[in-house]
Amino acid sequence: MHQHAHLKEAIAKLKQVGIRITPQRHAVLDYLIEAKSHPTADEIYKSLEGTFPNMSVATVYNNLRVLKEAGLVKELTYGDASSRFDFVTDDHYHVICVDCGKIVDFECDGLGEIEQLAQHKTGFDITHHRMEIYGVCPICKEKEEVVG
Ligand SMILES: [Zn+2]
Ligand SMILES: [Zn+2]
Repeated sequence: MHQHAHLKEAIAKLKQVGIRITPQRHAVLDYLIEAKSHPTADEIYKSLEGTFPNMSVATVYNNLRVLKEAGLVKELTYGDASSRFDFVTDDHYHVICVDCGKIVDFECDGLGEIEQLAQHKTGFDITHHRMEIYGVCPICKEKEEVVG
C-alpha cells in the first residue's frame, strides 16, 4: 500500500479511538512509516529534534507508547539492546543482520497455517507468532569480503 495511505489510515484510527493527534505524534508516526528502518526511540528523537526543539526523548517514548496501545506501532525487543519500533502493517517478518543489527522487512504469507497447527496440537488459543531470520546483510558481507 502507498505510504501516504498508511498515514491517513493511521490518523483515522487514532481519531476513532479518541487519541489526540499532536504535531509530535503525527511526526513520530510519519517517521516510522517513512523510515522503514525500525528505529530506536533515540534515533526517532534525533531525526525530529530539528523540527521540534522542545521535544524530549521522554516525549518520543510517550508517543510511541500511545501509538503502541492504539495498535499502530509494534515494539521489537532484543534482550538488553534498545527496543526498536515498527509501524504495524500486514504480516511481515524480519531478517536481522548478525553483524550490524539492521532489520529488513520480508513479506511472506502462508505462515498463518503454523498458528492453526499449533492450536490444533496444543489446544492453545493462539494470539500471534514471532519469527525472525538471521544472517549477514549485503553491506556487511561486502565488508567481510574486502577484509578477508
Ligand atoms: Zn549488516
Ligand atoms: Zn518491520
